Amino acid sequence: MAGKSDPTRILILGGGYVGMYTALRLQSKLGRREASVTVVDPQPHMTYQPFLPEAAAGNVEPRHVVAPLRRVLKRCHVLTARVTEVNHEKRSVTVEDAEGIASDLGYDVLVVALGSVSRLLPIPGLPEHGIGLKTVGEAIYLRNHVLAKMDAAANTTDPELRKRLLNFTFVGGGYAGTEALAELEDMARYATRYYESITRDDMSWSLIEAAGRIMPEVSEKMGVYTVKALEERDIKVYLNTFLKSVENGHAVLSDGTEFDTDTLVWNAGVKANPVLKNTDLPLDERGRVKATSHLRVEGHPDVWVAGDCSAVPDLSKAEEDPNATCAPSAQHAVRQANQLAKNLISSLRGRKTEAYFHRNAGSVAGLGLYKGVADVYGFKAKGFVAWFMHRTYHVSKMPTFNRKARIVIDWTLAFLFRREVVSMGQIQNPRSDFKRAASS
Ligand SMILES: Cc1cc2nc3c(=O)[nH]c(=O)nc-3n(C[C@H](O)[C@H](O)[C@H](O)COP(=O)(O)OP(=O)(O)OC[C@H]3O[C@@H](n4cnc5c(N)ncnc54)[C@H](O)[C@@H]3O)c2cc1C
Repeated sequence: MAGKSDPTRILILGGGYVGMYTALRLQSKLGRREASVTVVDPQPHMTYQPFLPEAAAGNVEPRHVVAPLRRVLKRCHVLTARVTEVNHEKRSVTVEDAEGIASDLGYDVLVVALGSVSRLLPIPGLPEHGIGLKTVGEAIYLRNHVLAKMDAAANTTDPELRKRLLNFTFVGGGYAGTEALAELEDMARYATRYYESITRDDMSWSLIEAAGRIMPEVSEKMGVYTVKALEERDIKVYLNTFLKSVENGHAVLSDGTEFDTDTLVWNAGVKANPVLKNTDLPLDERGRVKATSHLRVEGHPDVWVAGDCSAVPDLSKAEEDPNATCAPSAQHAVRQANQLAKNLISSLRGRKTEAYFHRNAGSVAGLGLYKGVADVYGFKAKGFVAWFMHRTYHVSKMPTFNRKARIVIDWTLAFLFRREVVSMGQIQNPRSDFKRAASS
């Protein structure tokens, strides 16, 4: 424990939305003698996830949708390591670096911002064939994968193989899944102009959603519009349908439909980071850290939590459902981070803390170049207007002027010179040529 004159040691677990925005505010408001702030994350950057579909589609450079932690958090200590255990009773966090070397970190105040991971279901074949879209690595992989399948299809005359290579199936119709499907289909449609033997009609794109509608983040009417807009682009939308199995790339749906596919993108929700099970913090039935409305961990006044890994009461819904908790979204994560940092500073300075309150503002989603859907504070828009709103909103939220500028330049270059549709599949196996040269 720090002595009276020692700075308070604040340890932030996770440098994503909540971790990075909390640290940003703390570094600008707290003096060096007041506190030292350390951020631990296995990635050296924060990922702006809403831009991942555009990065996958080649509209923006993947490097530009991340904010480098060491550059942004100049007055914090940044540790590139993975948290493996939290023993709050001993005020100790165990971390492991990329070399597998473990060490223990002490703290006075802890901020838990470990986010979420893809929620998988026990579907045969899913672990072997599914591709997620939560990291920048997955966005790069997905783009290379789609273009590589088109390259392979252009090389074969086997009609069954071609069909399989050109089948692109997405599971999960929330904003992440819908945007990913729409952006990638848009890219592949554009890319067909460079292939002599592939037209859009040769490809099969589909979205599978277990619920009766897609995009629950927007109103029902806008959800229906989105389905229509996708269907007009010849994208098959399966509602009230789930994937039963995908063994050896053979997909079987609950309505009896069967087909072969080499591309199965899984975006059917998230669950709290499983590492939370290795902590002595209170978790709810969904594995999220139980939080008070002031963003403290229940029963632990010196531990704070927010974002996808937390169960923060949603006070805007308290009248209809007193047990309602905030949905996992960037909208909440950014606002909670600001409130958390304010409350943490207040508590260090012996002032009152405030409850977190935010009424859902709605959502904006891009569905490919010049296409989108938006439902913000009751204002509904479609097509170009919604697409423009999507881009302006997200670029305004992208951390740092540097990243904002790079993204706007990427968009301008894509507008002037068309988007990049080349597969960089070598990235997936960069040493293969060198090894081949060595063995010959
Ligand atoms: C494709 C996609 C599109 C999206 N679009 C939207 C949108 O349009 N609007 C919207 O509101 N929301 C959107 N979201 C959701 C939004 O991005 C998340 O809700 C938000 O990122 C949550 O913030 P967080 O800080 O809780 O988690 P994250 O931002 O995920 O941060 C968690 C951090 O913890 C780190 N971490 C993980 N494990 C460990 C460990 N063991 N030790 C240390 N660090 C660890 C991770 O590397 C990461 O940096 C989208 C998500 C995706 C995937």
